[in-house]
Amino acid sequence: MMQRSPRERSLSIPWRQSALCATILAAATTWAADAAPDYTQLRIICFGAHPDDCEIQVGGVAAKWAAKGHKVKLVSVTNGDIGHWRDAGGPLARRRTAEMLAADRILGVTTEVLDNHDGELLPTLENRRTLTRLIREWKADIVMGPRPNDYHPDHRYTGVLVQDAAYMVTVPFFCPDVPCLQRNPVFMYYPDQFQKPNPFQPDVVVAIDEVMNKKLDALDALESQFYEGGANGSAALLPSEPDKQQARKREVRDYFANRQKGLTKRFRTQLADWYPKAGEAEKVQFVEAFELCEYGRRPDQAELKRLFPFFD
Ligand SMILES: [Zn+2]
Repeated sequence: MMQRSPRERSLSIPWRQSALCATILAAATTWAADAAPDYTQLRIICFGAHPDDCEIQVGGVAAKWAAKGHKVKLVSVTNGDIGHWRDAGGPLARRRTAEMLAADRILGVTTEVLDNHDGELLPTLENRRTLTRLIREWKADIVMGPRPNDYHPDHRYTGVLVQDAAYMVTVPFFCPDVPCLQRNPVFMYYPDQFQKPNPFQPDVVVAIDEVMNKKLDALDALESQFYEGGANGSAALLPSEPDKQQARKREVRDYFANRQKGLTKRFRTQLADWYPKAGEAEKVQFVEAFELCEYGRRPDQAELKRLFPFFD
């Protein structure tokens, strides 16, 4: 890539610069030693492959940011149109978009569902352009997405697409119709269980106890996925008796509460780094955790605390 970064231009480096040098200079712009940003109102954009992924992974912290007046947008990169055992196609895509809007209204965040078919996402140039434009238009300080090693091809390629956008968002003549970002955002990954080629390692762990009910309410609004079981569900999950329906809803709620407690147990050591006061970390029941991507801006601990303004 020979395009000059804003930093390179400001340093009056000759146009015929080597690609290696340009890369080094561009990389240098991503470190926190650059001008300290004004994070008075943070702007966060989170990508998930399906209209429930973001809510599961970052619903709690999204609600916490929103409650403090920061701007959060959750994007589903596919429309979810094969994500049910009984329904499919346009009607399911419309239903899942409505569910995600309802969930995100509870969290207090903005929603976008891209009209790509579920199960068919590819890391194409067109999709790279789409994500680049969305990140730029949102003027993101933080961008989140899945890691690219994942069992589901849509998750995997959403991860690749976010990585592919991580430098391009700063390059003026890539998608010149939307102004490039002058400062590279911080890119972060959601947790997963996959060990190869490398396991997820949390760089920030946030307690979400005070918004956990809100998160469970949001997940409850995604009825087709959890109450009805999504792609691998069945009619057996849909009792007609009201008491059994209530029991099924409780079962879904308990499942997600336990899932979140599992993350707390898994990241207990790192949690203590973020809540160092005596007895503080031990009291936390529910957490969300994120890992810094090696691309994009690389914040130090002090900047991470400004990006996640939830710690004393
Ligand atoms: Zn998914």
